[in-house]
Amino acid sequence: MDTIAQLQQYIDQSSRIVFFGGAGVSTESGIKDFRSVDGLYHMKYKYNPETILSHSFFLNHTEEFFEFYMDKIVQPTQNAAPNTAHTVLAQLEAQGKLSAVITQNIDGLHQMAGSRNVLELHGSIHRNYCMKCGAKYSLAETLAHGDIPHCKCGGLIRPDVVLYEEPLNDTIITKAIHAISSADLLIVGGTSLTVYPAAGFLDFYQGNKLVVINLDNTSYDSKAALTINGKIGEVLGQLAL
Ligand code: NAD
Ligand code: ZN
Repeated sequence: MDTIAQLQQYIDQSSRIVFFGGAGVSTESGIKDFRSVDGLYHMKYKYNPETILSHSFFLNHTEEFFEFYMDKIVQPTQNAAPNTAHTVLAQLEAQGKLSAVITQNIDGLHQMAGSRNVLELHGSIHRNYCMKCGAKYSLAETLAHGDIPHCKCGGLIRPDVVLYEEPLNDTIITKAIHAISSADLLIVGGTSLTVYPAAGFLDFYQGNKLVVINLDNTSYDSKAALTINGKIGEVLGQLAL
């Protein structure tokens, strides 16, 4: 049986599918990932993205943080639309076969495609809040508040994204672990599985149908029942739903 037919059979047999993904899910929408050869990490900046996107850098170099964040993280998402991977996952949920999408992405494309139960481990660029009074701001409102966005109260507006050095949200962690541990099929795709603690959540899967769909090899390939090396949108696009 070829790999697509095998994946099709797994999906047909499952009713609590969980998808766990990362930046590679959005590359076919034109948003770069961090680690592929043409990803963000291979471009030249004064500091590397992991340094810039850290809590301490945000506090100590706020202007440079926002310059990089707006230019390299937010701007590429502005005209991006969901691709086939996002759409297929939304369809599986609508059919009652998929219980959750767990994503490390912060671009909001799963929701734009119609997915409802999206657990955003690293937050979202679409939610922003004042660090002083807690007022909430959309992305458009934040962008309208200047290069270093400030609230009416004078406080700094920050994105509700998890920066390096910052902990993940406990409620999201609990929901993600619950979804994974009760999944009958776990599909992992478009993630290098190198960012922790996010990648460690896969260990909560109890089933025997772990599928990894990724361009590069990952450290979980050896544990997978099925590994597909390919573009996730192209792979999921071949399924009959
Ligand atoms: P990563 O950049 O570390 O890894 C991406 C992986 O996806 C690579 O292994 C690559 O081979 C694979 N890939 C790329 N395009 C693919 C495709 N079309 N089909 C299948 N596989 C593909 O990304 P990560 O594991 O998500 O971790 C990096 C961190 O970067 C995350 O914490 C995430 O928050 C953040 N990030 C998010 C976005 C976004 O929101 N779109 C973009 C860049 C980075
Ligand atoms: Zn405020």
